[in-house]
Amino acid sequence: MSRTSRRIVVKCGTRLLAGDSGINHAFIANMARQIADIRLQGTQVAFVTSGAVAVGRSIVPLTGNALVTRQVLAAIGQAPLMAHYSECFAEAGMTVAQALLSRADLHNRTGYLNARNALTGLFDADVVPIANENDVVATEELRFGDNDRLSILIAKLIGADRLYILSRTAGLYTADPESEPAAELIPDASDMPRAELERIAGGASQGGLGGMRSKLQAALEASADGIDVVIAGGDEPDVIVRLESGEHLGTRFASQGPRRSSRARWLSSSVAQRGSIVVDDGARRALVSNGSSLLPAGITQVRGAFERGDLVSLIDARGDVFARGLANYASSDMSRICGKPSASIGAILGASSGDEAVHRNNLVLIDRDAE
Ligand code: GLU
Repeated sequence: MSRTSRRIVVKCGTRLLAGDSGINHAFIANMARQIADIRLQGTQVAFVTSGAVAVGRSIVPLTGNALVTRQVLAAIGQAPLMAHYSECFAEAGMTVAQALLSRADLHNRTGYLNARNALTGLFDADVVPIANENDVVATEELRFGDNDRLSILIAKLIGADRLYILSRTAGLYTADPESEPAAELIPDASDMPRAELERIAGGASQGGLGGMRSKLQAALEASADGIDVVIAGGDEPDVIVRLESGEHLGTRFASQGPRRSSRARWLSSSVAQRGSIVVDDGARRALVSNGSSLLPAGITQVRGAFERGDLVSLIDARGDVFARGLANYASSDMSRICGKPSASIGAILGASSGDEAVHRNNLVLIDRDAE
């Protein structure tokens, strides 16, 4: 795909957008002004909003966090939330559109491309997509869960150059800054090992629903796809404009290579995956070092329910996800041929769909420490 504009995704957490008394109009107006500024420089922006549930609760004070309560609150809150976006962006000379996404729509490539077409169509019409999870229909097993995960997907869908994850916290700290006054901001996490980053983020509880752990996961996944990511404070004056002008704020995760193709971005997507396959050390080595396909013989366990053609994660013997790809067999069949030689597939299942459980052409390696 050739295009001239740069694309960025800006994701803001609930605590920036809404409080107990409802929507933080001034904050949204400020974001709109900044986005109008960078739009003038030719950059296209998709905005990922949270806050529907919080706004709903400020209107109808239901308590608890049960799925149905969140569905009801999101249904109440999403429209008034969008009304503020429409008003604030109109004041800044821009038009917005609501883009509600469900994880269930993205397991197959058709659904993914459908969502991509809608978002790029909005860019073509010079409209700013304001994305949120479609919380009203999300089920417990099939939800993004938090908008950090949704922001990775939006960044992949539009082929973003950069992803800014903004929250009340100024970035990733060496320890939780709320309980450890000596904690220091990490300005650049690009070369830090994943295990160390996970240890640090695991101890930090700051942030809304997602917390720092889910922000880190989003940053690692997007940067592995060739997207530059910054986790920064949304209250920092002119934060988006300053980041776009190259100023160093928050914690940076530089892209780990060239931007992947659209298909590879979808294949590597944790939010689109349906189930998982555990493989032995030999199979992992063959996949990582020799560029081989995954054969049923290397599979030790099949987890979750998926259909042929669905996206699955490949997990090694230590429990780490190191690749994702399209399953050549449904989970029910995969469980029956797991650990068996490919020559016996026909005899076991009655018919064979090929020697591979996941073909190399439909597989991407994802762990930056694995390659
Ligand atoms: N989709 C949720 C909402 O609009 C927010 C999820 C999150 O905070 O990450 O309320």
